[in-house]
Amino acid sequence: MEKSHEHREPASGARTPHVVIVGGGFGGLYAARGLARAPVTVTLIDKHNYHLFRPMLYQVATGLLSSDEVAAPIRSILRLQKNVTVLMAEVVGVDPHARVVFTREGAVAYDYLVLATGIEYNYFGHEEWKAVAPGLASVDDADRIRGKILTAFESAEELAASGKADASTLHELLTFVQVGAGTAGVEMAGTMAEMSQMALAEDFRHIDPRSAHILLFEAAPRILPTYPASLSEKARRHLEHLGVEVHTNAKVERVDDHGVIVNGQRIASRTVLWTAGVVASPAGRWLGVDVDRAGRIKANPDLSIPGHPNVFAVGDTAAITAYTRSLFGIRSKTPELLPGVAQVAIQGGKYVASLIRRRVNGKRSTKPFWYWDKGNMAIVGRTFAVADLKYVRFSGFTAWLLWAGVHIYFLIGFANRLLVALQWAMSFVTKRRGVRILPLAQTEQKKCNENYRKGEYFRMFRLISYVPLSLFFAPMSCGVI
Ligand SMILES: Cc1cc2nc3c(=O)[nH]c(=O)nc-3n(C[C@H](O)[C@H](O)[C@H](O)COP(=O)(O)OP(=O)(O)OC[C@H]3O[C@@H](n4cnc5c(N)ncnc54)[C@H](O)[C@@H]3O)c2cc1C
Repeated sequence: MEKSHEHREPASGARTPHVVIVGGGFGGLYAARGLARAPVTVTLIDKHNYHLFRPMLYQVATGLLSSDEVAAPIRSILRLQKNVTVLMAEVVGVDPHARVVFTREGAVAYDYLVLATGIEYNYFGHEEWKAVAPGLASVDDADRIRGKILTAFESAEELAASGKADASTLHELLTFVQVGAGTAGVEMAGTMAEMSQMALAEDFRHIDPRSAHILLFEAAPRILPTYPASLSEKARRHLEHLGVEVHTNAKVERVDDHGVIVNGQRIASRTVLWTAGVVASPAGRWLGVDVDRAGRIKANPDLSIPGHPNVFAVGDTAAITAYTRSLFGIRSKTPELLPGVAQVAIQGGKYVASLIRRRVNGKRSTKPFWYWDKGNMAIVGRTFAVADLKYVRFSGFTAWLLWAGVHIYFLIGFANRLLVALQWAMSFVTKRRGVRILPLAQTEQKKCNENYRKGEYFRMFRLISYVPLSLFFAPMSCGVI
């Protein structure tokens, strides 16, 4: 290591125990917040400077929201919590014996370590597909995907306007392939369909965006495989109603610049997007501990890591088997492997914080972690969702309202909540999408500067137009929030 971070504090000499949290996602952030009044110092390390609300990232990728509406700087979220230092750095290893975390720039000593580094997309050994078929995991990915979608429409328009267009090239440009029909894939496909049917419909003169083909491929026998079959079927029917072609039992065997090969058949497309599978972050490899097939650390019932009682794994990077309780308090008969969803990470982060607080206060550890399963929801287009609350299942607009309320509630920061509620309301009424500026990488610098200025004017207009709208919608949104 070339240099140490300035704040490094050897654990042995620390007056108060030092908790290092790696990852400022749901698990890490809630662990840090849970230590607010604990007699510890906390260092939260993340390779990004923002906390990202991933469940609404697809809305950035499809132009409904901008990235600052679903992400907030970790520093500003934790600014009032004086025992936390935020460090923007990428962790590359851990020495659990010396109790040190290594970043690219240096080393940070810890007394307690919480690993909450999430997942990465799984390209099943074909890392070369990643460049062609981006996955939706970060703000950059969302911008890249939005750029890819908009660029395809722009290129088709340019070609059609030139009068030299051949039907097959236009078809290739206007074919959008989404691989993987879990929650994120279904949300993306539904929203892309509505984007082409509504938001972009009037914007072009030489092509008709409504003629775009949105194809969704899923290797499993049904979409939303973790949902009950009846809800999967309803989601499928609604997607088809929106104009999405849904293909199940469809294994993608190859991805390249000109499309995909599925079950031996080539599908020509310039826009392939990937939400097909995930693997855990390399946190398990850093420690050399037992991991499951998806690379997740097999955590103990108290979320500590076997052989390392002061190291914990929470959220998507951990394989947690625990008892669950349904929304109505019914306890599962046996422990279950918990899904990779935000609530598991949030509750895990809070649990670990309370466990550390008890330990440093000299109290006995709390009971094993259990998961309060409040259910799962997936949105399928603008007004339809499916909700599985375990003993209650429903779909349609009511499920959408529940989805919207819950997701807005969990957005970090009141300003974001109000802004997002208003943005949605506006988009709902006008059926338009606000954020259609091509990201930096997709345009020449000059064009981009112009667009940026237009974007600024547009945002100012949007904010001004919120004022009358907010008088109308604020009571409603405050009720929901
Ligand atoms: C597109 C999408 C849609 C989703 N939709 C839903 C939904 O509707 N409902 C739901 O419940 N769940 C949804 N999920 C899943 C949910 O977002 C995750 O379960 C949740 O984010 C897990 O939280 P986490 O803290 O484990 O990881 P994350 O929230 O992924 O946070 C991990 C953090 O660790 C940081 N990090 C990673 N590696 C390093 C490193 N080496 N050094 C430093 N920092 C690092 C990352 O920058 C990130 O901030 C969705 C996920 C995606 C990708």
